[in-house]
Amino acid sequence: MDLSYTDEEQAFRAEVRDWLAETLPRDLSEKVRLGKRMSKQDVEHWHRLLNAKGWLAPNWPRKYGGAEWNAVQRQIFEEEACLAHAPRTLPFGLSMLAPVLMAFGSEEQRQRFLPGLLDGTNWWCQGYSEPGAGSDLAAVKTRAVREGDEYVVNGQKTWTTLGQHADWIFCLVRTDPDAKKQEGISFLLIDMTSPGVTVRPIVLIDGEAEVNEVFFDNVRVPAENLVGEENKGWTYAKYLLTHERTNIAGVGFSTAALDTVKHVAQNVKSGGKPLAENPHFAARLAQVEIDLMAMATTNLRVVSAAAKGEAPGAESSMLKVKGTVIRQELTSLLRRAVGPDALPFQPDYLEGGDNAEMMGPEHAATSGPSYFNMRKLSIFGGSNEVQRTIITKAIIGL
Ligand SMILES: Cc1cc2nc3c(=O)[nH]c(=O)nc-3n(C[C@H](O)[C@H](O)[C@H](O)COP(=O)(O)OP(=O)(O)OC[C@H]3O[C@@H](n4cnc5c(N)ncnc54)[C@H](O)[C@@H]3O)c2cc1C
Repeated sequence: MDLSYTDEEQAFRAEVRDWLAETLPRDLSEKVRLGKRMSKQDVEHWHRLLNAKGWLAPNWPRKYGGAEWNAVQRQIFEEEACLAHAPRTLPFGLSMLAPVLMAFGSEEQRQRFLPGLLDGTNWWCQGYSEPGAGSDLAAVKTRAVREGDEYVVNGQKTWTTLGQHADWIFCLVRTDPDAKKQEGISFLLIDMTSPGVTVRPIVLIDGEAEVNEVFFDNVRVPAENLVGEENKGWTYAKYLLTHERTNIAGVGFSTAALDTVKHVAQNVKSGGKPLAENPHFAARLAQVEIDLMAMATTNLRVVSAAAKGEAPGAESSMLKVKGTVIRQELTSLLRRAVGPDALPFQPDYLEGGDNAEMMGPEHAATSGPSYFNMRKLSIFGGSNEVQRTIITKAIIGL
């Protein structure tokens, strides 16, 4: 296994770095650097710039307008984008739904939906989880009953990220309540403007309504919006989840966050000395840096295997657990470094208004909400407890 970058890959890194330096708008990178919230317009702006360069969909084939990068190129882009404080792209349509449509959708569905993902016409959200179906996803109850050339959908989804902005939702629905639970599920595309769809915000601990409940009350959905075969949705759902968990290690994000924590800790005083020299703080900082270096190497092993076409196995669970624990620890250290200045809740500043006044030093206003928001990382994308069970079975063999 070769973990060093080739000359070609180094040249690609330089190309990405130059493009980011020329193209990434300063107002967007400042928002990301300071941990402010992105608006819908911000995300659309960034998507447009990437799409104009042909880089919005790194893993799509060129024939659909993607960049068709290999795993190493994607990793390099991710690292450079994080170092430049570029916004994240929205994964729901681009890296979750699109691979499913390419693998299991009809040609008509691909022609109909893929262009709108690139040009920003359609925002998608993910309708998997329900009040009684999270870790046990196959327990979904939202019912879809076929009536002629339509499905009639009734039920509820929850934790639907950015559902308030979405034009469409891809949903797991139960089409056969009598079959074994994994065998009675279908994958349905639902227009969020359909009569009977209601979106209700859930305000999270950081004060942001990032997620929603979505209710379906006799929603009529054309049968042509069924992806693949009826009752085969579980296969497509699992395929989508393997794409949801790519890049889960967040090496680039954590590297940038580590730099921030170090910078703040050098400039904050504790007992007359920089906080970075406080033994307890320094030990935590060193530990998270060591963990990050170890994870980055594991990540390179996985990326290197993926570049040779090998599918990641339980390693993706290791990356998910380690990556999220590291990100959470970094937000915890930043909040600790900022101290009491992390306490005031300053929503105007968080929402990104350039002229909004901030109490305390840079990073103070966002460090508290970021700390709280990042608790989500160990819950979604398959909770860390469930990932640990996968690791103990598949890797440790218990
Ligand atoms: C911020 C946020 C955004 C989200 N966005 C979306 C979205 O856009 N679309 C979507 O469909 N879903 C989304 N989710 C839902 C997410 O996928 C679920 O929260 C997750 O799968 C866990 O399910 P649950 O919340 O029902 O918890 P449960 O499954 O009820 O779990 C509760 C606790 O029990 C533990 N547990 C459960 N089963 C086991 C087990 N077998 N062994 C050991 N421990 C176990 C869990 O680890 C957890 O700590 C989001 C969640 C959050 C927090």
